[in-house]
Amino acid sequence: MSAIEIEQLGKSFGAVEVLRDVNIEIASGEFVVLVGPSGCGKSTLLRIIAGLEEHTTGEIRIGGRVVDEMPAKSRDIAMVFQSYALYPHMSVADNMSFALRLAKVPREEIVSRVKMAAEILGLQDLLGRMPRQLSGGQRQRVAMGRAIVRAPSAFLFDEPLSNLDAKLRVKMRAEIKKLHQRLGRTSIYVTHDQTEAMTLADRIVVLNKGRIEQIGTPSELYENPANLFVAGFIGSPE
Ligand code: ADP
Ligand code: MG
Repeated sequence: MSAIEIEQLGKSFGAVEVLRDVNIEIASGEFVVLVGPSGCGKSTLLRIIAGLEEHTTGEIRIGGRVVDEMPAKSRDIAMVFQSYALYPHMSVADNMSFALRLAKVPREEIVSRVKMAAEILGLQDLLGRMPRQLSGGQRQRVAMGRAIVRAPSAFLFDEPLSNLDAKLRVKMRAEIKKLHQRLGRTSIYVTHDQTEAMTLADRIVVLNKGRIEQIGTPSELYENPANLFVAGFIGSPE
């Protein structure tokens, strides 16, 4: 069974149609990268999957259940954003455990989940620090830690590395890959960076003006682009 199924999805804001006829089936544990130019609807699609935005037409099923009536909280999905706003007055550990404390997860369980996430992300020595004492890369790790501790069945990433400099981006890209290998969770990762897409993806979805141009493995897209748009997008330098 597919983990996430998106069928004939459409979205309009008033008279403006931003997504149309979007069909994607994502297998459990798959890492799918969504690429496309700015404004093509990537964030809107992720927000709809996360339950932060309603769709206009079509259907989304998560774990076989239609999500129309399913509130964001019960979708068992964690989202990592581009602007990783940490709570400035809370330590790293408190930032990571905040959602769990709200959900009344038992204390010992919180401690063990934060410990595991910190170990995966190399944050063990930084748990007592405040956000202002962290570098950009460390902050992005904490933002990922906040998602990991919730132990969701799927992760949605919306351009999580786009605020980092090029060198750090390459490093974090490798860490996200390791994270996926270790946790094996279904992931949808949005980027407009082709290199990031090619290195991370099991499959890439190329979106353009709200429609899917092609879905395929990185080598399928590279060797057999469906059209000039895909060829140009996948082939162009970073
Ligand atoms: P991307 O993430 O690919 O850059 P977005 O999903 O953010 O694109 O936006 C897709 C289109 O939808 C854009 O034209 C954007 O202006 C529009 N849009 C996004 N959110 C809203 C909104 N809340 N109200 C009106 N238009 C929106
Ligand atoms: Mg976006």
